[in-house]
Amino acid sequence: MNVLIINAGSSSLKYQLFDMNTEEVAAKGVCERIGIGGHLKHTPVSNGKPVFDEDIPLPTHSEAISAVLDKLTGAEYGVVSSLSEIGAVGHRVLHGGQSFSESVLIDDDVIRAIEDNIPLGPLHNPANLMGINACRSEMPGVPQVAVFDTAFHQTMPEKAYTYAIPYSYYEKYNVRRYGFHGTSHRYVSAEAIKMLGGRAEGTRVITCHLGNGSSIAAVKDGKCLDTSMGMTPLEGLPMGTRSGSIDPAIIEFVANHEGLTREEVFDVLNKKSGVLGISGVSSDFRDIEAAAEDGGNPLSRRARLALDVFRYNVAKYIGSYVVTLGGVDAIVFTAGLGENSADLREAVVSRLGGLGVSIDKEKNKTRGKLLDITGEGSSARVFIIPTNEELVIARDTKSIVEA
Ligand code: ADP
Repeated sequence: MNVLIINAGSSSLKYQLFDMNTEEVAAKGVCERIGIGGHLKHTPVSNGKPVFDEDIPLPTHSEAISAVLDKLTGAEYGVVSSLSEIGAVGHRVLHGGQSFSESVLIDDDVIRAIEDNIPLGPLHNPANLMGINACRSEMPGVPQVAVFDTAFHQTMPEKAYTYAIPYSYYEKYNVRRYGFHGTSHRYVSAEAIKMLGGRAEGTRVITCHLGNGSSIAAVKDGKCLDTSMGMTPLEGLPMGTRSGSIDPAIIEFVANHEGLTREEVFDVLNKKSGVLGISGVSSDFRDIEAAAEDGGNPLSRRARLALDVFRYNVAKYIGSYVVTLGGVDAIVFTAGLGENSADLREAVVSRLGGLGVSIDKEKNKTRGKLLDITGEGSSARVFIIPTNEELVIARDTKSIVEA
């Protein structure tokens, strides 16, 4: 079976077509500037056909899906001979609220529930729905599955997801911790459990998804007990441009002193904070690591500080989740930064010395592949596990459709 994976944003739509017999990507691409022009980059992977990379009119997500299907099935750039070879579509959906603890076959009730959760994911859920509705109209009869970023974290106990604010806000508006990157935490924790011997029972794993957006999860017996992101992805670790957790009183203070509206302060916290805000260099850790080492760069000290704040907070969350889990058997590094930055991994684990955790510095120099980098005599295993959210979405989609 071929499964099409869709990740729809408000003006973009990323896709991958998986051949589920081999679990290989047959083609992938991205539509950009939907509604404000249009651009499609389509890359056939499974055969030697050329890349399509051009501006084309994409007034809505429907035209985007139609253009994607055209490329996937056409003679010049195609990887399948007709639409009938695409057996199912899997959609990445940001916010499942309390409605979804696992992936589901999309029907009218599911669409209504995703709509009901728009207040919790006001930017993403409407865009995800546009992708779903476009596929429903362009590929009638093809089953569609929704895979939620929040689902894996629904096993968190009440004490971990409840905020200490008036309880009525939870009762009236579902204000609570949900957590994100769930598909990634689920995948890498399952891979870690395989490396620990395969039985989920009794395992305590801390998964560090460190990329542009970053979150950490505490996973016991294969189930999430706590995670660093909150009702929205703004909570937790400092990130590329997001502040992570701060004293909420700062919001009013900055609004008053800078003459900003509430929306403008949130824009600062989402887009101008994190390691970008501290360093003034970039939101990209590669740029910050380079600036930190370049003594001639006037922002070098701030770049070092940004890295220090980030690494300190990663270690602090790991330490707190050791308490949550009553110990730790494995710590996993994943996503762009976690998989690729040896400096980051070394700096984080060096802060865990008090827990008896260490890494093998030579093995740690490897980038972007699955590896056990545990140090001699370490009290817990340390793994690099490349995440693959798209493959998880494709596997869920296939198994739900075939059930
Ligand atoms: P997203 O959250 O957008 O999916 P990724 O998981 O792709 O992000 O991570 C992107 C981040 O990974 C980049 O901002 C970059 O800082 C970091 N990164 C990628 N490669 C390296 C590297 N070799 N060294 C340090 N950081 C890296």
